[in-house]
Amino acid sequence: MSGKHALVTGGTRGIGFGVAEALIAAGWTVLATGATREEVAACDAPSGMDVAVLDVTDQTAVANLVAGLDRLDGLVNCAGILMRGQEYDLVNFQRVIDVNLTGTMRMCLACKPLLAASGGAIVNTASMLSFFGGPLVPAYSASKGGVAQLTKALAAHWAGDGIRVNAVAPGWIETGMTQGLREDAAREAAIMARTPMRRWGRPREVGDLVAYLLSDSASFITGSIMPVDGGYAAM
Ligand code: NAD
Repeated sequence: MSGKHALVTGGTRGIGFGVAEALIAAGWTVLATGATREEVAACDAPSGMDVAVLDVTDQTAVANLVAGLDRLDGLVNCAGILMRGQEYDLVNFQRVIDVNLTGTMRMCLACKPLLAASGGAIVNTASMLSFFGGPLVPAYSASKGGVAQLTKALAAHWAGDGIRVNAVAPGWIETGMTQGLREDAAREAAIMARTPMRRWGRPREVGDLVAYLLSDSASFITGSIMPVDGGYAAM
């Protein structure tokens, strides 16, 4: 058992919950956050997992939550939103950037002192849209391209503080975010046709990679953006 402590934003459902499960299986204790009280109340938290409400766009809330932590060995930024078909509206554009990109930076900055003290690591959540442009999601695409570049910049700057910073780039994963796509036969067929493994990924499959990147086994890995995508980015 590792005896280590992680904070997973967006950890009360979807990919973040799969991350929390993988970390707990590896012996970590996890504080998982969700954006709303309803989501947090609905979370069936296993032993080893605490839950809290957190809006990553709220600077005061982030500072208060981090101030309550005694120790932190891993930060996983999984909080994210997407507004398909609505991101050419500038208000929506800025909202998506604020949650996905600035929210990630806000969490990294707030947690840096604790991570420097423990020799900890960060895993951010990139996307296939860190590499490709999504015509219906310009803000999401820009935010995830930004998350990839932010990850490299922080890795380069914080290596001297003993903090590793990596990102996972999930392909198409079965969560609430992709439910609409999975219910749209034409879109689903197009995604499956481009995914060599011909299936959707599971949150835990992303979680297992995150757990590896936070572990000592990844001690010389920093600044990497690692796909977990059934081969999608290879085609
Ligand atoms: P999801 O909608 O199930 O989960 C999103 C999580 O983010 C929820 O816990 C939600 O409460 C949280 N969140 C939303 N707004 C927030 C805010 N302002 N402050 C704090 N938390 C907030 O979706 P998911 O698929 O599990 O997505 C998790 C991450 O994975 C996101 O960053 C998403 O962009 C990324 N991702 C998902 C896929 C996929 O196929 N599902 C692919 C690539 C990347």
